[in-house]
Amino acid sequence: MSCCEHDSNGHNGNGHHHDEHDIHHYDTNEVFPRQSLWHKEVFSREAWVAPRRGQKNVSQMHYARKGLITEEMKFVAEREQLTPEFVRSEIASGRMIIPANINHISLRPTGIGINTKCKINANIGNSAVTSNVAKELDKLKRAVKFGADTCMDLSTGGSINEIRQAIVDASPVPIGTVPIYQAVQKVAKPEDLTADLLFEVIEYQAKQGVDYVTVHCGVLLQHLPLTAKRITGIVSRGGSIHAAWMAVHHKQNPLYEQFDRLLEICKRYDLTLSLGDGLRPGCLADANDEAQFAELKTLGELTLRAWEQDVQVMIEGPGHVPFHLVAYNVERQIKECHGAPFYVLGPLVTDVAPGYDHITSAIGATAAGTAGAALLCYVTPKEHLGLPNEDDVHQGVIAYKIAAHASDVARNRPGARDWDDELSRARYAFDWKKQFALAMDPETAQAMHDETLPAEYFKSAEFCSMCGPKFCSMHLNRVVEQYNAENAPKETLTTTAK
Ligand code: SF4
Repeated sequence: MSCCEHDSNGHNGNGHHHDEHDIHHYDTNEVFPRQSLWHKEVFSREAWVAPRRGQKNVSQMHYARKGLITEEMKFVAEREQLTPEFVRSEIASGRMIIPANINHISLRPTGIGINTKCKINANIGNSAVTSNVAKELDKLKRAVKFGADTCMDLSTGGSINEIRQAIVDASPVPIGTVPIYQAVQKVAKPEDLTADLLFEVIEYQAKQGVDYVTVHCGVLLQHLPLTAKRITGIVSRGGSIHAAWMAVHHKQNPLYEQFDRLLEICKRYDLTLSLGDGLRPGCLADANDEAQFAELKTLGELTLRAWEQDVQVMIEGPGHVPFHLVAYNVERQIKECHGAPFYVLGPLVTDVAPGYDHITSAIGATAAGTAGAALLCYVTPKEHLGLPNEDDVHQGVIAYKIAAHASDVARNRPGARDWDDELSRARYAFDWKKQFALAMDPETAQAMHDETLPAEYFKSAEFCSMCGPKFCSMHLNRVVEQYNAENAPKETLTTTAK
């Protein structure tokens, strides 16, 4: 059985049961209007992709440039409240991507670009220290439940192929990976890596149904001396592996030299390239330096080469950036990379709050999303400190849903503010149950309310324990409302009479 075949009971080839009812996806699209598509019990792209199998290039960009509107484009158009033709033209131009490997059958397609709603990514995956398929699936479910639009499996520990397959099979959202993490597991030292091994791993993961891969093609031998004066050097895991390899062999990055070989794999599976920022700054002092921008320029050149072959591309960005420089980073990426979607990792706007980096980075992510970044990679409270557990994933996802939604409101995305207005009306009406239901994290909102006022009676009370019944400003407003009601009509009448 291939990785994508599911039997009629909802079991896949690996014996995992994927219960659609476990997955509830909160985002602006889901709440206003609630989308029936997402909640469809049985969902399979098999009928959509079957006619494409065996074709030389099955990428969404390839079809878009031929003038064809695929089912995936229609699906995205409905979720984004855009026309299918607009989605097609955005994909054809490279400004939007739909990461959708033809072997990821359970995928509900997601559009990522400057003209879609801002999306968030949650990283999951084991490390060499902890390894467990069920735990990773729990993290996936929790991340998707609270609104992750994509998930990256960053596993580096044992059972790596099994975990990835289970995640792809279970996931309704696009799955990304960093293939060099697996490649390096297969050798004793990073310098023992070979180009063939790396390409073999990339192709294997593409076959499994991975939708996008982070590949550090833009870290070049000539860039390495540019990092010499940094405080934290090269902090990207993939970037440092490539750098160490090039330093030992005095050779150019094989992913750069054999970029066309990579494009061939992408075309066969519609694997989207996420061109990694291997030289991203790891602290505020290193932001916007020569190394970062030299790599960005190379990524812009590679974007054009990928587009020549109709391969979908997004560009990864920093990292750690002072707040006042975040928008500049986005503007420069859009210019240097010709409008390819920008996928930012945070950025953290200060280095001094380990334990709270979901907050330091969500502040930067909001600035980035407002400036035009398309996908925000979450950061959990454990960043710099340890491997996130399920609760950390939850905290990170919510922090980033807030950042993405705040950006959508700031950018006037269709329907984005309606969600806020509806919750505000429920709040003012003391409709506590509706307020909880509309909250980004309903369980937490209700638990916090009920901590002090648990009785059912208080679900319609005109106050909460924050100010108490006497000082509840919204309750006192009823008096003001009454005054306005008594006075406003008279004034209107007087005016009319005059
Ligand atoms: S008591 Fe204060 S916090 Fe609570 S509902 Fe009234 S105004 Fe809002």
